[in-house]
Amino acid sequence: DRPARFHRKFINLNDGDSAPSSPIRVMQWNILAQALGEGLDNFVQCPLEALSWSRRKYLILEEILTYRPHILCLQEVDHYYDTFQPVLAGLGYSSNFCPKPWSPCLDVEGNNGPDGCALFFDQSRFELLDSMNIRLSAMRIPTNQVAVVTLLRCRSTARCMCVTVTHLKARSGWEWLRSAQGSDLLRHLQNLVQKHAGSPTADPSSDIPLIICGDFNAIPAEEVYRRFITSPLSLDSAYKKLSQDGLTEPEYTTWKIRPTGECCATLDYIWYSRDKLRVDAVLEIPTEEQIGPNRLPSFSYPSDHLSLVCDFSFKEKE
Ligand code: NDP
Ligand code: CA
Repeated sequence: DRPARFHRKFINLNDGDSAPSSPIRVMQWNILAQALGEGLDNFVQCPLEALSWSRRKYLILEEILTYRPHILCLQEVDHYYDTFQPVLAGLGYSSNFCPKPWSPCLDVEGNNGPDGCALFFDQSRFELLDSMNIRLSAMRIPTNQVAVVTLLRCRSTARCMCVTVTHLKARSGWEWLRSAQGSDLLRHLQNLVQKHAGSPTADPSSDIPLIICGDFNAIPAEEVYRRFITSPLSLDSAYKKLSQDGLTEPEYTTWKIRPTGECCATLDYIWYSRDKLRVDAVLEIPTEEQIGPNRLPSFSYPSDHLSLVCDFSFKEKE
């Protein structure tokens, strides 16, 4: 008698244009750490039973398997070694995990270890060239937030791309820290694409395509968002493509109720190199009605954040 899973449709953006033969599907998702959901989050409208790991793990895996992304970027993973790594390896995914240095999960009794960011890719589609775990800094001081950066080569086209997953500092009052962390990540990526181009003076926007998935904990009006939009790396946010004008972010990517009130906001993004990649399709955001009056998580959806899924293809080289 549990409510039905959300039915979400892909919105195709390029009908009429030459249909891409095999787009690259990317999923971004903060899956909600098990220890945080049960121990610290205080989702007052969500029954504890809906938060049990025995229920949630199947819903999380079901969501992933429904869309079968080639690249899967997850935050708040505190069941990597015992669940996601082995299960997804059995389905043909290779992966890298970076735990947070001082994960708040460790403060919860009966925790399953630190949470962190995990990046999975379909081994039949991509070959791993390099992977780095990065601890983000703010004014040279290491922080508690991390990123996983991987360099992949598409086996069918031989083209390379750099995929990153991150989770920036949460809560209001920390806008400055998110901005500094975002700048640090952009600096790392700039260095990486320049190293790859083989020249320190190469135009950073002229080489390897980037995809950066994250829970930025920042609404589009925040400084860190502006830093990404205006970066010399020529990035754009894929989910803007869902809007009528193509320029507006969705109304929400997370929707939850805590004792302090309701939080409905856009905090999660899939950034991409706008000159090198084309967004072919974007998975719709569930409606308020689908999400329901008690918001997220719920018996029908295991996280307070929605998954973002889109299809990319390489733009032709000029
Ligand atoms: P963040 O502030 O970034 O948030 C941690 C988690 O809490 C996130 O996953 C976030 O989810 C969630 N969260 C956000 N808002 C709320 C809320 N209102 N109520 C409950 N949970 C919320 O954490 P930090 O990485 O800065 O770590 C903070 C904790 O880490 C400290 O409480 C401490 O326990 C520990 N720590 C310990 C240190 C030590 O020296 N021992 C040093 C540093 C940290 P989402 O992103 O989805 O919003
Ligand atoms: Ca959270």
